[in-house]
Amino acid sequence: MAIIVSRKERFLDKLYIPALLVGLKVTFRRFFESLFLGRTMTIQYPEQKREYSQRFRGEHFISVDANKVENCTSCYLCQTVCPAECITIIAEERPNDQNPYGVRKEKRPVRFDIDALRCCFCGFCEEACPKDAIKLSRNYEMAVETRAQAFYDLDHLKREVKGRG
Ligand code: SF4
Ligand code: SF4
Repeated sequence: MAIIVSRKERFLDKLYIPALLVGLKVTFRRFFESLFLGRTMTIQYPEQKREYSQRFRGEHFISVDANKVENCTSCYLCQTVCPAECITIIAEERPNDQNPYGVRKEKRPVRFDIDALRCCFCGFCEEACPKDAIKLSRNYEMAVETRAQAFYDLDHLKREVKGRG
């Protein structure tokens, strides 16, 4: 059963002025602290950058081996586990010349797309991957100008990413 709590507004509440003044007091205190004491709450981004936690989940990448061949074997686990359904994989048999060191990677992705605008950066794909292929880096600078640029394809995912973990 829902309980509705009604609060009777006083005359001063209706004016909104006391609440406004309380907010302004904080604003001016911060302003003068910054001006005279050098206590700034902000940084000069992008020249200065904050240090993020090691556990921060940012832009995706796909790890590659020494021959720049992706470690992904197109098992579809990441696509299956993704709650946002933003991973699309199309697989094919991997050619023998892409199996160095006698390591058999039977399949490879011919298409591996991530729609970064749908992704909620939960990290499930990284957790599910048996090959440690798909990972989330600590790069948070993912601003794009068009929607198409937020659609990561295999070439994009294989490139060097800042904050690669
Ligand atoms: S981080 Fe989560 S939402 Fe994003 S691609 Fe991976 S599983 Fe999907
Ligand atoms: S990235 Fe990992 S989980 Fe996803 S298809 Fe490739 S090997 Fe499987």
